[in-house]
Amino acid sequence: MKHLMITPPAPVQTALDTLCGAGFDAYIVGGCVRDALRGAEPHDWDCTTNAKPDEISACFHDFHVIETGLQHGTVTVVIDHMPIEITTYRIDGVYADHRRPDTVTFTDSLTDDLARRDFTVNAMAYHPERGLIDPYHGAADLQAETIRCVGSPHDRFEEDGLRILRAMRFASILDFAIAEDTAKAVHTQKMLLRHISAERIDTELTKLLCGVGAERVLTEFADVLFTVLPELAPMQGFEQHNPHHDYDVYTHTLKAVAACPPEPILRWAALLHDTGKPHTFTQDDRGGHFYGHAAVSKEIARRALKAMKCDRKRLDRVLLLVEKHDLVMNGTEKQLKRVVRQIGDEAATQLLLLHRADVSAQAACHRAERVKEADRLLQMLEALRAADACMSLKQLAVTGGDLLAAGMPQGKTIGDALNRLLEAVIEGELPNEHDVLLHAALSDLT
Ligand code: ATP
Ligand code: MG
Repeated sequence: MKHLMITPPAPVQTALDTLCGAGFDAYIVGGCVRDALRGAEPHDWDCTTNAKPDEISACFHDFHVIETGLQHGTVTVVIDHMPIEITTYRIDGVYADHRRPDTVTFTDSLTDDLARRDFTVNAMAYHPERGLIDPYHGAADLQAETIRCVGSPHDRFEEDGLRILRAMRFASILDFAIAEDTAKAVHTQKMLLRHISAERIDTELTKLLCGVGAERVLTEFADVLFTVLPELAPMQGFEQHNPHHDYDVYTHTLKAVAACPPEPILRWAALLHDTGKPHTFTQDDRGGHFYGHAAVSKEIARRALKAMKCDRKRLDRVLLLVEKHDLVMNGTEKQLKRVVRQIGDEAATQLLLLHRADVSAQAACHRAERVKEADRLLQMLEALRAADACMSLKQLAVTGGDLLAAGMPQGKTIGDALNRLLEAVIEGELPNEHDVLLHAALSDLT
Protein backbone atom coordinates (compact mmCIF):
# COMPACT_ATOMS: atom_id res chain seq x y z
CA MET A 1 0.00 0.00 0.00
CA LYS A 2 1.24 3.44 -0.85
CA HIS A 3 0.11 5.61 2.05
CA LEU A 4 1.34 3.45 4.85
CA MET A 5 1.94 6.48 7.01
CA ILE A 6 -0.96 7.45 9.22
CA THR A 7 -0.70 10.56 11.35
CA PRO A 8 -3.32 10.35 14.10
CA PRO A 9 -4.63 13.61 15.58
CA ALA A 10 -2.66 14.91 18.58
CA PRO A 11 -5.09 13.63 21.28
CA VAL A 12 -4.93 10.12 19.81
CA GLN A 13 -1.14 10.28 19.74
CA THR A 14 -1.28 11.35 23.40
CA ALA A 15 -3.43 8.32 24.20
CA LEU A 16 -0.95 5.97 22.48
CA ASP A 17 2.05 7.66 24.13
CA THR A 18 0.45 7.52 27.57
CA LEU A 19 -0.21 3.79 27.33
CA CYS A 20 3.16 2.99 25.77
CA GLY A 21 4.90 5.23 28.34
CA ALA A 22 3.37 3.09 31.09
CA GLY A 23 4.84 -0.03 29.49
CA PHE A 24 1.78 -1.25 27.57
CA ASP A 25 1.28 -1.87 23.87
CA ALA A 26 -1.25 0.36 22.13
CA TYR A 27 -2.50 0.72 18.57
CA ILE A 28 -5.18 2.51 16.65
CA VAL A 29 -7.52 -0.10 15.25
CA GLY A 30 -10.57 -0.86 13.10
CA GLY A 31 -12.49 1.73 11.10
CA CYS A 32 -9.95 4.54 11.57
CA VAL A 33 -7.09 2.47 10.14
CA ARG A 34 -9.28 1.38 7.23
CA ASP A 35 -10.40 4.93 6.48
CA ALA A 36 -6.97 6.54 6.89
CA LEU A 37 -5.40 3.95 4.55
CA ARG A 38 -7.96 4.63 1.86
CA GLY A 39 -7.35 8.35 2.16
CA ALA A 40 -10.61 9.22 3.94
CA GLU A 41 -10.89 11.20 7.16
CA PRO A 42 -11.77 8.79 10.02
CA HIS A 43 -14.74 9.99 12.07
CA ASP A 44 -13.56 8.38 15.25
CA TRP A 45 -10.29 6.92 16.40
CA ASP A 46 -10.46 3.72 18.43
CA CYS A 47 -7.46 2.31 20.26
CA THR A 48 -6.67 -1.19 21.41
CA THR A 49 -4.17 -2.16 24.11
CA ASN A 50 -3.00 -5.02 26.30
CA ALA A 51 -3.69 -2.85 29.36
CA LYS A 52 -6.70 -4.10 31.36
CA PRO A 53 -9.58 -1.70 31.88
CA ASP A 54 -8.52 -0.68 35.41
CA GLU A 55 -4.97 -0.15 34.14
CA ILE A 56 -6.29 2.04 31.31
CA SER A 57 -8.27 4.10 33.83
CA ALA A 58 -5.17 4.44 36.02
CA CYS A 59 -3.03 5.61 33.07
CA PHE A 60 -5.51 8.40 32.35
CA HIS A 61 -6.19 9.57 35.90
CA ASP A 62 -5.44 13.14 34.78
CA PHE A 63 -8.15 12.98 32.10
CA HIS A 64 -11.88 12.58 32.03
CA VAL A 65 -12.50 8.84 31.87
CA ILE A 66 -15.87 7.27 31.08
CA GLU A 67 -16.07 3.59 31.92
CA THR A 68 -18.30 2.84 28.93
CA GLY A 69 -18.32 -0.94 28.83
CA LEU A 70 -16.03 -2.18 31.55
CA GLN A 71 -17.16 -5.81 31.26
CA HIS A 72 -16.31 -5.74 27.54
CA GLY A 73 -13.05 -3.96 28.29
CA THR A 74 -13.90 -0.56 26.86
CA VAL A 75 -12.96 2.75 28.44
CA THR A 76 -13.55 6.14 26.83
CA VAL A 77 -10.94 8.79 27.54
CA VAL A 78 -11.56 12.44 26.69
CA ILE A 79 -8.41 14.27 25.59
CA ASP A 80 -8.73 17.88 24.41
CA HIS A 81 -12.50 17.38 24.07
CA MET A 82 -11.95 14.35 21.85
CA PRO A 83 -13.51 11.10 23.12
CA ILE A 84 -11.27 8.14 22.34
CA GLU A 85 -12.46 4.58 22.89
CA ILE A 86 -9.75 2.34 24.28
CA THR A 87 -10.47 -1.39 24.36
CA THR A 88 -8.44 -4.17 25.93
CA TYR A 89 -7.32 -6.95 23.54
CA ARG A 90 -9.96 -9.61 23.88
CA ILE A 91 -11.25 -12.91 22.61
CA ASP A 92 -14.99 -13.35 22.34
CA GLY A 93 -16.54 -16.41 23.99
CA VAL A 94 -19.42 -18.50 22.67
CA TYR A 95 -22.22 -16.65 20.89
CA ALA A 96 -25.30 -18.55 22.05
CA ASP A 97 -27.74 -15.89 20.85
CA HIS A 98 -26.16 -15.21 17.41
CA ARG A 99 -25.50 -11.66 18.48
CA ARG A 100 -23.37 -11.15 21.56
CA PRO A 101 -20.66 -13.30 23.09
CA ASP A 102 -21.71 -14.84 26.40
CA THR A 103 -18.30 -14.02 27.83
CA VAL A 104 -15.23 -12.08 26.79
CA THR A 105 -11.72 -12.98 27.80
CA PHE A 106 -8.87 -10.53 27.82
CA THR A 107 -5.74 -11.61 25.97
CA ASP A 108 -2.19 -10.42 25.48
CA SER A 109 -2.26 -11.14 21.77
CA LEU A 110 -3.17 -8.39 19.32
CA THR A 111 -3.53 -11.01 16.57
CA ASP A 112 -6.22 -12.75 18.60
CA ASP A 113 -8.03 -9.47 19.13
CA LEU A 114 -7.94 -8.74 15.40
CA ALA A 115 -9.29 -12.25 14.71
CA ARG A 116 -12.61 -11.48 16.46
CA ARG A 117 -13.25 -8.49 14.19
CA ASP A 118 -15.74 -8.86 11.37
CA PHE A 119 -13.99 -8.07 8.08
CA THR A 120 -10.35 -8.04 7.03
CA VAL A 121 -10.48 -4.31 6.20
CA ASN A 122 -11.70 -3.71 9.77
CA ALA A 123 -9.08 -5.97 11.34
CA MET A 124 -5.96 -3.87 10.98
CA ALA A 125 -4.04 -2.09 13.74
CA TYR A 126 -1.41 0.63 13.40
CA HIS A 127 1.16 2.36 15.54
CA PRO A 128 3.15 5.32 14.16
CA GLU A 129 6.45 3.65 15.08
CA ARG A 130 5.57 -0.02 14.68
CA GLY A 131 3.61 0.41 11.47
CA LEU A 132 0.71 -1.68 10.22
CA ILE A 133 -0.29 -4.94 11.89
CA ASP A 134 -2.31 -6.80 9.30
CA PRO A 135 -2.37 -10.57 9.89
CA TYR A 136 -5.56 -11.08 7.83
CA HIS A 137 -4.45 -9.11 4.76
CA GLY A 138 -6.91 -6.27 5.12
CA ALA A 139 -4.65 -3.90 3.18
CA ALA A 140 -4.78 -6.16 0.13
CA ASP A 141 -8.57 -6.38 0.38
CA LEU A 142 -8.76 -2.62 0.79
CA GLN A 143 -6.72 -2.22 -2.38
CA ALA A 144 -8.94 -4.76 -4.17
CA GLU A 145 -12.04 -3.01 -2.74
CA THR A 146 -13.33 -6.21 -1.18
CA ILE A 147 -15.30 -6.98 1.98
CA ARG A 148 -14.22 -10.38 3.28
CA CYS A 149 -14.88 -12.02 6.63
CA VAL A 150 -11.95 -12.71 8.92
CA GLY A 151 -11.97 -16.51 8.96
CA SER A 152 -14.91 -18.66 7.88
CA PRO A 153 -17.89 -16.53 6.78
CA HIS A 154 -20.25 -19.29 7.86
CA ASP A 155 -18.86 -19.35 11.41
CA ARG A 156 -18.60 -15.58 11.70
CA PHE A 157 -22.23 -15.07 10.66
CA GLU A 158 -23.35 -17.91 12.97
CA GLU A 159 -21.68 -16.05 15.85
CA ASP A 160 -23.30 -12.73 15.02
CA GLY A 161 -26.00 -12.42 12.37
CA LEU A 162 -25.72 -8.65 12.31
CA ARG A 163 -22.47 -9.08 10.36
CA ILE A 164 -24.58 -10.14 7.36
CA LEU A 165 -26.03 -6.64 7.15
CA ARG A 166 -22.72 -5.05 8.13
CA ALA A 167 -21.08 -6.71 5.11
CA MET A 168 -23.75 -5.14 2.88
CA ARG A 169 -23.45 -1.81 4.69
CA PHE A 170 -19.67 -1.58 4.19
CA ALA A 171 -20.02 -2.75 0.58
CA SER A 172 -22.48 0.09 0.04
CA ILE A 173 -20.72 2.94 1.84
CA LEU A 174 -17.24 2.04 0.60
CA ASP A 175 -18.57 0.96 -2.81
CA PHE A 176 -16.74 -2.36 -2.46
CA ALA A 177 -17.62 -5.83 -3.70
CA ILE A 178 -18.30 -8.63 -1.24
CA ALA A 179 -15.85 -11.55 -1.68
CA GLU A 180 -17.43 -14.61 -3.24
CA ASP A 181 -17.45 -16.93 -0.21
CA THR A 182 -18.61 -14.12 2.06
CA ALA A 183 -21.37 -13.15 -0.40
CA LYS A 184 -22.52 -16.76 -0.64
CA ALA A 185 -22.82 -16.95 3.14
CA VAL A 186 -24.70 -13.63 3.20
CA HIS A 187 -27.36 -15.21 1.00
CA THR A 188 -27.51 -18.64 2.61
CA GLN A 189 -27.46 -17.44 6.23
CA LYS A 190 -29.73 -14.42 5.94
CA MET A 191 -32.31 -16.03 8.25
CA LEU A 192 -29.92 -15.37 11.14
CA LEU A 193 -31.05 -11.76 10.92
CA ARG A 194 -34.20 -12.96 12.69
CA HIS A 195 -32.16 -12.99 15.90
CA ILE A 196 -31.11 -9.37 15.57
CA SER A 197 -32.93 -6.51 17.24
CA ALA A 198 -34.95 -4.13 15.11
CA GLU A 199 -32.92 -1.11 16.25
CA ARG A 200 -29.63 -2.64 15.10
CA ILE A 201 -31.09 -3.64 11.76
CA ASP A 202 -32.44 -0.13 11.33
CA THR A 203 -29.02 1.42 12.06
CA GLU A 204 -27.22 -0.77 9.55
CA LEU A 205 -29.92 -0.51 6.89
CA THR A 206 -30.03 3.27 7.18
CA LYS A 207 -26.26 3.48 6.67
CA LEU A 208 -26.50 1.02 3.77
CA LEU A 209 -29.25 3.09 2.14
CA CYS A 210 -27.14 6.24 2.37
CA GLY A 211 -24.10 4.61 0.77
CA VAL A 212 -22.97 5.21 -2.81
CA GLY A 213 -23.39 1.53 -3.63
CA ALA A 214 -26.95 1.17 -2.27
CA GLU A 215 -28.54 0.37 -5.64
CA ARG A 216 -25.94 -2.24 -6.53
CA VAL A 217 -25.91 -3.92 -3.11
CA LEU A 218 -29.71 -4.02 -2.79
CA THR A 219 -29.97 -5.45 -6.30
CA GLU A 220 -27.48 -8.23 -5.56
CA PHE A 221 -28.82 -8.91 -2.06
CA ALA A 222 -32.53 -8.20 -2.54
CA ASP A 223 -33.32 -11.50 -0.81
CA VAL A 224 -31.59 -10.26 2.36
CA LEU A 225 -33.48 -6.98 2.30
CA PHE A 226 -36.76 -8.90 1.95
CA THR A 227 -35.85 -11.00 4.97
CA VAL A 228 -35.87 -7.90 7.16
CA LEU A 229 -38.55 -5.98 5.20
CA PRO A 230 -40.87 -8.62 3.70
CA GLU A 231 -43.30 -5.86 2.67
CA LEU A 232 -40.92 -4.93 -0.14
CA ALA A 233 -40.76 -8.34 -1.80
CA PRO A 234 -43.85 -7.97 -4.06
CA MET A 235 -42.14 -5.08 -5.86
CA GLN A 236 -39.42 -7.32 -7.29
CA GLY A 237 -40.16 -8.23 -10.90
CA PHE A 238 -43.50 -6.40 -10.81
CA GLU A 239 -43.80 -5.01 -14.33
CA GLN A 240 -45.60 -1.68 -14.64
CA HIS A 241 -47.02 -2.01 -18.20
CA ASN A 242 -46.93 1.72 -18.41
CA PRO A 243 -45.22 4.07 -20.89
CA HIS A 244 -43.86 6.19 -18.01
CA HIS A 245 -41.79 3.30 -16.78
CA ASP A 246 -38.93 1.26 -18.22
CA TYR A 247 -38.30 -0.75 -15.06
CA ASP A 248 -40.13 -3.11 -12.73
CA VAL A 249 -41.21 -1.52 -9.43
CA TYR A 250 -38.21 -2.73 -7.41
CA THR A 251 -35.62 -1.66 -10.00
CA HIS A 252 -37.33 1.73 -10.28
CA THR A 253 -37.33 2.00 -6.48
CA LEU A 254 -33.60 1.35 -6.19
CA LYS A 255 -32.83 3.84 -8.94
CA ALA A 256 -34.94 6.41 -7.10
CA VAL A 257 -33.07 5.65 -3.87
CA ALA A 258 -29.74 6.19 -5.63
CA ALA A 259 -30.95 9.45 -7.19
CA CYS A 260 -31.85 10.97 -3.79
CA PRO A 261 -29.29 12.93 -1.79
CA PRO A 262 -27.76 10.51 0.75
CA GLU A 263 -29.90 11.49 3.73
CA PRO A 264 -31.79 8.90 5.81
CA ILE A 265 -35.27 10.46 5.49
CA LEU A 266 -35.11 10.86 1.73
CA ARG A 267 -33.59 7.46 1.10
CA TRP A 268 -36.13 5.69 3.31
CA ALA A 269 -38.95 7.59 1.60
CA ALA A 270 -37.61 6.57 -1.81
CA LEU A 271 -37.29 2.94 -0.72
CA LEU A 272 -40.90 2.84 0.44
CA HIS A 273 -42.67 5.27 -1.93
CA ASP A 274 -44.02 2.68 -4.37
CA THR A 275 -44.55 -0.29 -2.04
CA GLY A 276 -48.30 0.07 -2.61
CA LYS A 277 -48.02 -0.40 -6.38
CA PRO A 278 -48.26 -4.21 -6.54
CA HIS A 279 -51.42 -3.97 -4.41
CA THR A 280 -53.22 -1.36 -6.53
CA PHE A 281 -52.42 -2.51 -10.06
CA THR A 282 -55.15 -2.38 -12.68
CA GLN A 283 -54.85 -2.59 -16.45
CA ASP A 284 -56.95 -1.27 -19.32
CA ASP A 285 -56.32 -0.55 -23.00
CA ARG A 286 -54.13 2.43 -22.04
CA GLY A 287 -51.83 0.24 -19.97
CA GLY A 288 -51.16 -0.35 -16.27
CA HIS A 289 -52.41 1.97 -13.52
CA PHE A 290 -51.77 2.23 -9.80
CA TYR A 291 -54.61 4.45 -8.63
CA GLY A 292 -54.33 5.33 -4.95
CA HIS A 293 -50.98 3.60 -4.56
CA ALA A 294 -49.44 6.41 -2.49
CA ALA A 295 -51.99 5.92 0.31
CA VAL A 296 -51.37 2.16 0.31
CA SER A 297 -47.60 2.74 0.24
CA LYS A 298 -48.01 4.97 3.27
CA GLU A 299 -49.69 2.19 5.27
CA ILE A 300 -47.09 -0.36 4.20
CA ALA A 301 -44.34 2.11 5.08
CA ARG A 302 -45.91 2.65 8.49
CA ARG A 303 -45.86 -1.09 9.19
CA ALA A 304 -42.33 -1.51 7.92
CA LEU A 305 -40.91 1.44 9.85
CA LYS A 306 -42.74 0.53 13.04
CA ALA A 307 -41.33 -2.98 12.80
CA MET A 308 -37.89 -1.31 12.58
CA LYS A 309 -38.76 0.67 15.75
CA CYS A 310 -38.03 3.82 13.78
CA ASP A 311 -38.26 6.98 15.89
CA ARG A 312 -41.40 9.10 15.69
CA LYS A 313 -39.80 12.06 13.94
CA ARG A 314 -38.39 10.03 11.06
CA LEU A 315 -41.56 7.93 10.85
CA ASP A 316 -43.82 10.97 10.51
CA ARG A 317 -41.67 12.68 7.93
CA VAL A 318 -41.10 9.58 5.78
CA LEU A 319 -44.84 8.82 5.84
CA LEU A 320 -45.65 12.37 4.80
CA LEU A 321 -43.25 12.18 1.86
CA VAL A 322 -44.52 8.75 0.80
CA GLU A 323 -48.13 9.91 1.01
CA LYS A 324 -47.51 13.05 -1.02
CA HIS A 325 -44.88 11.78 -3.46
CA ASP A 326 -47.32 11.81 -6.36
CA LEU A 327 -48.69 15.27 -5.68
CA VAL A 328 -49.31 16.82 -9.07
CA MET A 329 -47.45 20.08 -9.36
CA ASN A 330 -48.71 22.59 -11.88
CA GLY A 331 -45.45 24.47 -11.64
CA THR A 332 -46.76 27.81 -10.37
CA GLU A 333 -45.33 29.81 -7.48
CA LYS A 334 -48.73 29.95 -5.90
CA GLN A 335 -49.03 26.18 -5.76
CA LEU A 336 -45.54 25.82 -4.39
CA LYS A 337 -46.35 28.31 -1.63
CA ARG A 338 -49.49 26.32 -0.81
CA VAL A 339 -47.41 23.18 -0.41
CA VAL A 340 -44.97 25.00 1.88
CA ARG A 341 -47.88 26.34 3.92
CA GLN A 342 -49.30 22.85 4.30
CA ILE A 343 -46.21 20.83 5.10
CA GLY A 344 -43.49 23.37 5.93
CA ASP A 345 -40.40 24.52 4.14
CA GLU A 346 -38.09 21.62 4.98
CA ALA A 347 -40.61 18.92 4.05
CA ALA A 348 -41.48 20.76 0.82
CA THR A 349 -37.82 20.76 -0.20
CA GLN A 350 -37.58 17.04 0.60
CA LEU A 351 -40.74 16.38 -1.38
CA LEU A 352 -39.28 18.13 -4.43
CA LEU A 353 -36.00 16.21 -4.06
CA LEU A 354 -37.91 12.93 -3.81
CA HIS A 355 -39.98 13.89 -6.82
CA ARG A 356 -36.82 14.67 -8.77
CA ALA A 357 -35.35 11.28 -7.85
CA ASP A 358 -38.62 9.55 -8.73
CA VAL A 359 -38.83 11.04 -12.23
CA SER A 360 -35.15 10.50 -12.88
CA ALA A 361 -35.84 6.78 -12.34
CA GLN A 362 -38.71 6.73 -14.84
CA ALA A 363 -38.79 5.96 -18.56
CA ALA A 364 -35.87 7.40 -20.52
CA CYS A 365 -38.17 9.09 -23.04
CA HIS A 366 -39.58 11.63 -20.54
CA ARG A 367 -36.73 11.67 -18.07
CA ALA A 368 -34.73 14.71 -19.16
CA GLU A 369 -37.74 16.97 -19.45
CA ARG A 370 -39.20 15.89 -16.08
CA VAL A 371 -35.94 16.23 -14.23
CA LYS A 372 -35.59 19.71 -15.74
CA GLU A 373 -39.04 20.64 -14.49
CA ALA A 374 -38.23 19.25 -11.02
CA ASP A 375 -35.05 21.34 -10.98
CA ARG A 376 -37.06 24.40 -11.98
CA LEU A 377 -39.36 23.85 -8.99
CA LEU A 378 -36.40 23.44 -6.64
CA GLN A 379 -34.91 26.68 -7.94
CA MET A 380 -38.27 28.39 -7.63
CA LEU A 381 -38.49 27.37 -3.99
CA GLU A 382 -34.93 28.56 -3.42
CA ALA A 383 -35.78 31.94 -4.99
CA LEU A 384 -38.97 32.28 -2.90
CA ARG A 385 -36.94 31.57 0.20
CA ALA A 386 -34.23 34.04 -0.79
CA ALA A 387 -36.88 36.71 -1.39
CA ASP A 388 -38.40 35.88 2.02
CA ALA A 389 -41.74 35.31 0.30
CA CYS A 390 -44.58 34.86 2.73
CA MET A 391 -45.27 31.10 2.95
CA SER A 392 -45.57 30.49 6.67
CA LEU A 393 -47.17 32.09 9.73
CA LYS A 394 -43.86 33.38 10.98
CA GLN A 395 -43.44 35.47 7.84
CA LEU A 396 -46.89 37.03 8.09
CA ALA A 397 -46.81 40.79 8.72
CA VAL A 398 -49.08 40.39 11.75
CA THR A 399 -48.53 38.15 14.75
CA GLY A 400 -50.88 36.54 17.24
CA GLY A 401 -49.72 39.21 19.70
CA ASP A 402 -50.87 41.97 17.32
CA LEU A 403 -54.33 40.41 17.07
CA LEU A 404 -54.54 39.95 20.83
CA ALA A 405 -53.51 43.56 21.43
CA ALA A 406 -56.16 44.67 18.96
CA GLY A 407 -58.81 42.96 21.09
CA MET A 408 -59.19 39.52 19.51
CA PRO A 409 -60.07 36.85 22.08
CA GLN A 410 -57.23 34.53 23.02
CA GLY A 411 -57.22 30.92 21.88
CA LYS A 412 -58.22 29.12 18.75
CA THR A 413 -59.75 32.21 17.10
CA ILE A 414 -56.34 33.82 16.78
CA GLY A 415 -54.78 30.74 15.24
CA ASP A 416 -57.65 30.37 12.78
CA ALA A 417 -57.49 34.06 11.87
CA LEU A 418 -53.73 33.89 11.22
CA ASN A 419 -54.20 30.84 9.02
CA ARG A 420 -56.94 32.55 7.01
CA LEU A 421 -54.72 35.61 6.54
CA LEU A 422 -51.81 33.47 5.36
CA GLU A 423 -54.06 31.72 2.90
CA ALA A 424 -55.33 35.06 1.58
CA VAL A 425 -51.77 36.37 1.20
CA ILE A 426 -50.66 33.24 -0.66
CA GLU A 427 -53.71 33.34 -2.92
CA GLY A 428 -52.86 36.98 -3.72
CA GLU A 429 -56.08 38.29 -2.17
CA LEU A 430 -54.30 40.43 0.42
CA PRO A 431 -50.85 42.06 0.48
CA ASN A 432 -48.55 40.99 3.31
CA GLU A 433 -48.86 44.36 5.08
CA HIS A 434 -49.44 44.84 8.77
CA ASP A 435 -52.30 47.35 8.68
CA VAL A 436 -54.17 45.63 5.87
CA LEU A 437 -53.96 42.23 7.54
CA LEU A 438 -54.93 43.56 10.96
CA HIS A 439 -57.92 45.34 9.47
CA ALA A 440 -58.96 42.23 7.55
CA ALA A 441 -58.70 40.04 10.64
CA LEU A 442 -60.74 42.38 12.77
CA SER A 443 -63.44 42.95 10.17
CA ASP A 444 -63.67 39.19 9.71
CA LEU A 445 -64.65 38.99 13.36
CA THR A 446 -67.72 41.20 13.07
P1 ATP B 1 -17.83 3.25 11.06
O1 ATP B 1 -17.74 3.69 12.50
O2 ATP B 1 -17.16 4.10 10.08
O3 ATP B 1 -19.21 2.90 10.68
P2 ATP B 1 -16.25 1.08 11.99
O4 ATP B 1 -15.39 0.09 11.27
O5 ATP B 1 -15.58 1.95 12.99
O6 ATP B 1 -17.03 1.88 10.92
P3 ATP B 1 -17.91 0.21 14.14
O7 ATP B 1 -19.27 -0.38 14.08
O8 ATP B 1 -17.73 1.55 14.78
O9 ATP B 1 -17.39 0.23 12.66
O10 ATP B 1 -16.97 -0.86 14.84
C1 ATP B 1 -15.61 -0.61 15.15
C2 ATP B 1 -14.77 -1.87 14.88
O11 ATP B 1 -15.20 -2.92 15.77
C3 ATP B 1 -14.94 -2.42 13.48
O12 ATP B 1 -14.01 -1.83 12.58
C4 ATP B 1 -14.65 -3.90 13.72
O13 ATP B 1 -13.26 -4.13 13.79
C5 ATP B 1 -15.23 -4.16 15.07
N1 ATP B 1 -16.65 -4.59 15.05
C6 ATP B 1 -17.74 -3.81 15.20
N2 ATP B 1 -18.86 -4.52 15.16
C7 ATP B 1 -18.48 -5.80 14.99
C8 ATP B 1 -19.18 -7.04 14.90
N3 ATP B 1 -20.51 -7.08 14.94
N4 ATP B 1 -18.45 -8.16 14.76
C9 ATP B 1 -17.11 -8.12 14.72
N5 ATP B 1 -16.39 -7.01 14.81
C10 ATP B 1 -17.05 -5.85 14.94
MG1 MG C 1 -16.64 3.35 14.31
